[in-house]
Amino acid sequence: MIKDNILKVQERIAVSCAKIKADPRNITVLCVTKGRLVREILEAVDAGFNHLGENRVQEAKEKYRLVPSADWQMIGHLQVNKVKEALKIFSLIHSVDSVKLAQEINRQAQKINKIQDVLLEVKTSFEATKSGFIPEVFADELGEILNLDNLRVKGLMTVAPLMNDPEEARQYFAKLKYLRDKINPSWVLSMGMTDDFEVAIEEGADIIRLGRAIFG
Ligand SMILES: *Cc1c(COP(=O)(O)O)cnc(C)c1O
Repeated sequence: MIKDNILKVQERIAVSCAKIKADPRNITVLCVTKGRLVREILEAVDAGFNHLGENRVQEAKEKYRLVPSADWQMIGHLQVNKVKEALKIFSLIHSVDSVKLAQEINRQAQKINKIQDVLLEVKTSFEATKSGFIPEVFADELGEILNLDNLRVKGLMTVAPLMNDPEEARQYFAKLKYLRDKINPSWVLSMGMTDDFEVAIEEGADIIRLGRAIFG
């Protein structure tokens, strides 16, 4: 089952890459394992996925214990009081959405002598439910974050609003890329999920985050 899904995903990635003349090998698929059983996760790892994404620290902690060889990454909203635990598990935190959170990550990382890789989550849409930095007023906050010694910013992340047509998500991905190009062109973009990853690739995604496309 999962193997069939993966073949379909790879095919779709290849088609999108061909459209923009990109190499599919440069797209990193983060396999989103939230709510999945360990048996399913092992099947995905077995099929070649090594980068696994989780939304909650508690859930990730248990899975990390059972599948320690995988590369675990945090994609959900991170509470300040969970940072200490999170630093023990995740190689990359996609969802840094406030200066306060960045400062706490820096503080805890200092204590354990870790340089924590992070992405900054940007609120590219106007949905009230989404968290993230507001592009128009991002500059001052960014300055503060880039000054934190134990934080290494590797790029930007966004979650597009739920749409009936993936084409409608394109504007949000384009906005993230525009912002990235302006700030630091060497940064990566984490954008695109099961319903909109093809459009995200066309707009320049480096990391796509897939749950249902892989697990059904
Ligand atoms: C759940 C989740 C995903 C994966 O969603 P699918 O639609 O199942 O691919 C990606 N990113 C974030 C932030 C998520 O919470």
